[in-house]
Amino acid sequence: MHFGGYRLDILVQGYPGKTRRHGGLGWSTVALLRGHGRVAIVDTGGFSMRRIIVEALQHLDVQPGDVTDLLLTHLHYDHMINWTLFPNARITVGQTELGWALGLPMGDPIVPEFYVRELALHPKLSTVGDGAEVLPGITAYLVPGHTPGHLMFLVPGRDDETHGDLLLVQDAAKYRAELLLRAADMTFDAAITAASIERIWGFWRRRPGSLLVPGHDQPMVLQDGVPTRLGRADAAIIAIMGETLTDRTEFDLAGPPGG
Ligand SMILES: [Zn+2]
Repeated sequence: MHFGGYRLDILVQGYPGKTRRHGGLGWSTVALLRGHGRVAIVDTGGFSMRRIIVEALQHLDVQPGDVTDLLLTHLHYDHMINWTLFPNARITVGQTELGWALGLPMGDPIVPEFYVRELALHPKLSTVGDGAEVLPGITAYLVPGHTPGHLMFLVPGRDDETHGDLLLVQDAAKYRAELLLRAADMTFDAAITAASIERIWGFWRRRPGSLLVPGHDQPMVLQDGVPTRLGRADAAIIAIMGETLTDRTEFDLAGPPGG
């Protein structure tokens, strides 16, 4: 799919779920945009995704060294930690977000202290605020709630393309239920989250066919005004509890059809 002269590929599809006894899954969306002479990745996934991100890029004939830009929506570990994979990339992050993350005490449950500190010293770091143009035609908007400085990125579609706009909202609206409810299960302020999700709705309704990419769910479009997932989750856990290495049990996590 193309938006504003950029081709969109989802390298890793986020998943809406948590574990019962092992914390958050951190299965977040990693998206690739190519166009206007740029190779940009929006959020970089968690540590366990390193291999699959590199493999997904190679599948598209892209090497990590080819990536020119990283756009980070926020500084949770499962979205930012792999900035170190891309030696030539310019990195864009929200000014408010970086200031907030740097001010946290050691031991925050979700923000990786050392990766944030190193990022702040990065020679090609660009810190931006609301309304900044971060790549040709791509604008960052502040949508706080999940974190105080969370950004979304809006790629306006062109008339010669078949879709509307592209909204990369990541954890400002992690999954479908949050869009429906204008509420989140992780927020520092419910009213601020509600206002940010309302802002997202304003962008989403602007043009028919606009695609919304959340941080932990399938991409969605509006059908008769209702958020509708494209495709189904492709997720499973492989348990190795037998007596041989090949004795494996796969637990499909796709969920019910249409769910
Ligand atoms: Zn997050």
